[in-house]
Amino acid sequence: MTSPMLADLTWMEARDAAERGACAILPVGAFEQHGPHLPLLTDAIFATEAARAIAETLDAVVAPTLSYGCRSKALTGGGPHFPGGIGLEPAVFMQLVENVVRELLRQGFERILVLSCHWENRHFVYEGAYQARQPDTEGSARVMVIESCFGNTIRQETLDAIFGDEWPGLAREHAAIIETSVLLHLRPELVHMDRVVDDEQARFPWWDVIPPPPEFSTRSGVMWKATQASEETGRRLWADIVAAMTAAVDEELFGAAQSTGGGSGD
Ligand SMILES: [Zn+2]
Repeated sequence: MTSPMLADLTWMEARDAAERGACAILPVGAFEQHGPHLPLLTDAIFATEAARAIAETLDAVVAPTLSYGCRSKALTGGGPHFPGGIGLEPAVFMQLVENVVRELLRQGFERILVLSCHWENRHFVYEGAYQARQPDTEGSARVMVIESCFGNTIRQETLDAIFGDEWPGLAREHAAIIETSVLLHLRPELVHMDRVVDDEQARFPWWDVIPPPPEFSTRSGVMWKATQASEETGRRLWADIVAAMTAAVDEELFGAAQSTGGGSGD
């Protein structure tokens, strides 16, 4: 079976993919601290694996992942002061997204998905895609943007089963139950469960401050109860995430309503 990864293809295979109307997916992550137990590349791994999973069902090729993202914020990612993190200035990030999407358009891809799994990339990733595909320019190419791996992709009943009435909200769940569980499912060899901790910010206001007060972050970089993570939870979450993303891309870029594919009713 041919690899869905654009990097593995020859130029002829890439040309064929564009010509037959395959979707080109650009995964976008970040290089950011994820507590004492998860790797810096965590968000990029999620974006890459989500794209690869979509390509198992739909006709898609996966462009090389943008593994750098926008700078970590104290409240939602711990902040840029953690060693190892490498964040981009938003202008640089937007230009990077714009440049790559424009290149995919130039190759002739008419279906493009930009799939970001890093909270702080939101809006900037959309803007980069927008600059590449300005609506008042010619052509029928469409660029779809997913700005979060976990927002809207996890079913409420799954969240209820995992969190009960202790759901802290996605912004606070950094390096905690969801991310740890999903990485345990996808790449268990990268998760150090012997070092996992629960942690919580002393303050989580609805505003932000620069420079960020230390109590907006945590010492560990974990923002919630990462010790409750499990591979089983990750498997369950990932099934929801992949199903939701695949259905969304099918509907939006391939027109699922017109598809003749049988099977699922409703
Ligand atoms: Zn993350």
